[in-house]
Amino acid sequence: MKAHDGMYIDGAWRPAAGKDVIEVVNPADEQVIATVPAGTAEDVDAAVRAARAALPGWAATPPAERAARLAALRDVLVAREEEIAETVTAELGSPLAFSRTVHVGVPIAVAGSYADLAATYVFEEKVGNSTVYHEPVGVVGAITPWNYPLHQIVAKAAPALAAGCTIVLKPAEDTPLTARLLAEAVHEAGVPAGVLNLVTGLGPVAGQALVEHPDVDLVSFTGSTAVGRRIGATAGAAVKRVALELGGKSANVILPSADLARAVNVGVANVMANSGQTCSAWTRMLVHRDQYDEAVELAATAAAKYGDRIGPLVSAAQRARVRGYIEKGIAEGARLVAGGPESPRDKGYFVSPTVFADVTPEMTVAQEEIFGPVLCVLRYEDEEDALRIANGTVYGLAGAVWAGDEAEAVAFARRMDTGQVDINGGRFNPLAPFGGYKQSGVGRELGTYGLAEYLQTKSLQF
Ligand code: NAP
Ligand code: MG
Repeated sequence: MKAHDGMYIDGAWRPAAGKDVIEVVNPADEQVIATVPAGTAEDVDAAVRAARAALPGWAATPPAERAARLAALRDVLVAREEEIAETVTAELGSPLAFSRTVHVGVPIAVAGSYADLAATYVFEEKVGNSTVYHEPVGVVGAITPWNYPLHQIVAKAAPALAAGCTIVLKPAEDTPLTARLLAEAVHEAGVPAGVLNLVTGLGPVAGQALVEHPDVDLVSFTGSTAVGRRIGATAGAAVKRVALELGGKSANVILPSADLARAVNVGVANVMANSGQTCSAWTRMLVHRDQYDEAVELAATAAAKYGDRIGPLVSAAQRARVRGYIEKGIAEGARLVAGGPESPRDKGYFVSPTVFADVTPEMTVAQEEIFGPVLCVLRYEDEEDALRIANGTVYGLAGAVWAGDEAEAVAFARRMDTGQVDINGGRFNPLAPFGGYKQSGVGRELGTYGLAEYLQTKSLQF
C-alpha cells in the first residue's frame, strides 16, 4: 500500500490543502493498493492559477518547440511502458497484454501524432486581405473517466499542448495512479512548470470546482451522459467552451452478404475487450432474420470461449450496475445464451461474458449503455428495418457494417446517425476524428479535428 500525498501543481508535487484521501482498489482482488489526496476547490484554484500564469509563455512557444516536448513525452511513455501497463492493470483490472498494447500503445501513438501535427499544422493563414491566426483557447479543464485511463487523458492533453493551451486535469477517482504517471512523464519530457497540472479528487467536489472556475476557458469532459449534460449546462451559463465525449450504444450491422462468422467473432471480441467498458463498443449486433439463429449460436460460442480471460469490472459499483442490467434483460424477456448475473469468482468484480438473444429494440438492454461485457443480438427484417434499429437510440458514437461488397457497406454506413463506423473490420486510426452524433457528445477528439477544439481564430484585415 502506497500513500501518495502530493498533487502535481506548477511543476512540483505539492501537499493537498485538505486531509481527505481516496483509496485505490485493485478490482481483481479487492485490495487497497494506494491512497491519493482527495483535492478540494482550494487545490483546483491553485492549479488553475498555475495554468493561467503559464499560459502566455506556453502559447508564445514556437510550435516546433511544443512539438519537441510532445515527442519527448511520447519517448518517456515508450521508456516507461511496462510500469504504466502494470499500473493500469492494478487499478483498472485489464489483462496485462491488453494494458500494454491498447492502454499504453494507443496513447504512445496519439502523443506521437500530436508531435507531428504541432510541427506541421498551419497556425497562420492568408484569406484574401486577412491573416487568420489559430490561437490557443486558454486554460483547459480536463475531466476524464477510468475506462481508458491514460488514453482519455492523452487524447485531451496532447492536442491541448500542441495548440499552446495549459491544462488542469481531474482524472477519475478509480484510476488516479495512471494519471500520476502521466504527470511524471510530462515533467520528464521537459514541459514547463504550470503547463499541465494534476488535481486528484472526487467528481462532485474537485471536478465541479474545475467546471465552475471562472478562469477556465474550456472544459473537456469524457464520461457519462448524465454528468456531461450538467457540465454542458454549467459551461453554457458561463459562455465557456465545452467538449463532451459521452456514452454510446453502437450497432454492429451484419448485412446478409457479409462473412457471418468473421463479423460475429470480431463483434464479440469488440464488446468483450476491456470487459465491455468501452464507450464506442458495438453492444448491439443486428442480424438478418434468415441468419439469426446461426449468428446467435456463433456469438454464444465465441463469448463462452472468453471465460475468465477478460478482466474484472473497475469497481463494485460498476459490477452492481452491470448485473442490474443483466437482470433487467431477463425480466424484459431477452433470452440469455451466454453468461448471466452470477459472479464467476469469489473475489474480484468479475462478470461473465454475457450474450442476450431475442432482444427487441425497445428493451432497456437495447437502449441504455451497460458498460460491461454484455452483447445484445437483434433481428432485422430488411435493410430499412436494420437502419431504423441502428439509428433508434439517443446515442450515435460508433458502429460497424459488414457486407460482401465494400461499396454496399459504405452506402449503409453513410445513412447511420453516428460519428465513426468500421467497414468490414477496419483498423483503428489515431488520426481519424472520434466523437458523437446526437447525445453521444459535442466536439471531436484525435488528429487535426481534435487539435481544432483547442484553438480559436483571430483575423487581421489589411
Ligand atoms: P462519470 O461520473 O461521468 O465520471 C467521469 C468523470 O467525471 C470522472 O472523473 C468523475 O469523477 C467526474 N465527475 C463526476 N461527477 C462530476 C461532476 N458533478 N462534476 C464534474 N465532474 C464530475 O462516470 P462514472 O460514474 O465513472 O461511470 C458511470 C457510467 O458512465 C458508466 O457506467 C458508463 O455508462 C458511463 N461512462 C462512459 C464513459 C465514456 O467513455 N463515454 C466513460 C466512463 C463511464 P469521479 O471519478 O470521482 O466520479
Ligand atoms: Mg462517478
